[in-house]
Amino acid sequence: MKIKMILPALTEAKSPYWRPVKYSLFPPLGLATLAAYCSPDDDIELQDEHVEELQIHDSPDLVIIQVYITNAFRSYRLADHYRSKGVYVCLGGLHVSSLPDEALPHADSIFIGPGEDTFPEFLKDFKNRTPKKVYVNAKRTIADIPPIRRDLIKRQLYLVPNSIVVSRGCPHHCDFCYKDAFFEGGKSFYTQQVDAALAEIDRLPGRHLYFLDDHLLGNQKFATGLFEGMKGMNRVFQGASTLDAILRGNLIEKAAEAGLRSVFIGFETLSTVNLSQTNKKQNLGKDYREAINRLHSLGIMINGSFVFGLDDDDKYVFERTVEWAVENALTTCTFHILTPYPGTRLYKTMEQQNRILHHNWDQYDTRQVVYKTVGLHAEELKEGYDRAYKSFYSWKNIYRASMQHDSLKYPLKHFTYAGGWKKFEPLWNFIIKTKGLNNMLLILEAILSKVNNRSNNRSVSPFPAIA
Ligand code: SF4
Repeated sequence: MKIKMILPALTEAKSPYWRPVKYSLFPPLGLATLAAYCSPDDDIELQDEHVEELQIHDSPDLVIIQVYITNAFRSYRLADHYRSKGVYVCLGGLHVSSLPDEALPHADSIFIGPGEDTFPEFLKDFKNRTPKKVYVNAKRTIADIPPIRRDLIKRQLYLVPNSIVVSRGCPHHCDFCYKDAFFEGGKSFYTQQVDAALAEIDRLPGRHLYFLDDHLLGNQKFATGLFEGMKGMNRVFQGASTLDAILRGNLIEKAAEAGLRSVFIGFETLSTVNLSQTNKKQNLGKDYREAINRLHSLGIMINGSFVFGLDDDDKYVFERTVEWAVENALTTCTFHILTPYPGTRLYKTMEQQNRILHHNWDQYDTRQVVYKTVGLHAEELKEGYDRAYKSFYSWKNIYRASMQHDSLKYPLKHFTYAGGWKKFEPLWNFIIKTKGLNNMLLILEAILSKVNNRSNNRSVSPFPAIA
């Protein structure tokens, strides 16, 4: 059987905000995971429109499309195109799970929720010519998943081909989080077996790994086993955690020992009112600075995530947040405009309050205002968001944030990582065009090498002074 799996480009991939390197980071692991359930005799092609031109003049037996909110309309067009040629089309992913009725007219079968147990069932039905229109995930386990079909991934096209996911979901339920609709009606957080996760890591070449799990430290027992098992594997890795997990016990020390060198944290807001209103309980009453100091003392860089436009925000929130992030030496920041994704509690609340402005999903990219704001005007929000990015990634602030660290090597590492990521767009574009992205991995690994903070004289600067 000839099977085509497609990750269509997100709409922002064609917008002025498009940073090719940002969308050339990770291969489509979800599709490669599903591919593992197909027969070894199947002829599978996996295409990711973020890194390659889609070829759509073929006529495979089966097309499977992964749908996110900002590629939904594009996905539907592709699905309609293939169906008009008589090809059987399946749609799945976060957006399909939150709005199945919208997706249904464009598909022969849709998948609601994670596909690990429904996709094998569908394949059986399809071969028996009895496929169902809707498959709803119920079992929720990844204990026995087969090894991901990484052979289908064009590694050279990605900066981080060694991305890996060892769990599904997250134990928390923030009101704005898109994942809740995906996991509705069953377990919303579960992990692989530790041995299987370690075996998957072992199969990956090189040193660098990027865990794409929503919350790598979310299950203490699993994470402890994973980090114990990784000791001595000589890996460096990046991942995500909540703030409270960093402050609890000594799991973060174990992660650092296993090779954790940078962590993504959803700080979201500096306002406790906003935290309460969005059900971000795990951040409430937590000492952000204590968590930051702990991470820095372990040599772990921080990518802080912040949301602008929450109801307690005023027009000064942007400068306040950037200044705080710089003073606390966050290496990188991801800013978002609050976005009420369908299926979330935030969406339901805003809908009840008649605050949803439109359903043009192309604009639900967390860079545009799609709801009626409170406390600041929509234009202020958009301008402030743009200003925050510009200001945080100005050379001056990259330098200032770098110099907050205690050791000699840390500022250099911070400066190189933040500057390299944001300040050399033409170079990144050239590297992507010449298909050399994968060669940058050695540099990334070098930057992520271990540093010991608090060990040296802070007055010794590795940089010439910047005015
Ligand atoms: S902690 Fe993060 S992943 Fe978990 S529910 Fe909140 S926003 Fe979503």
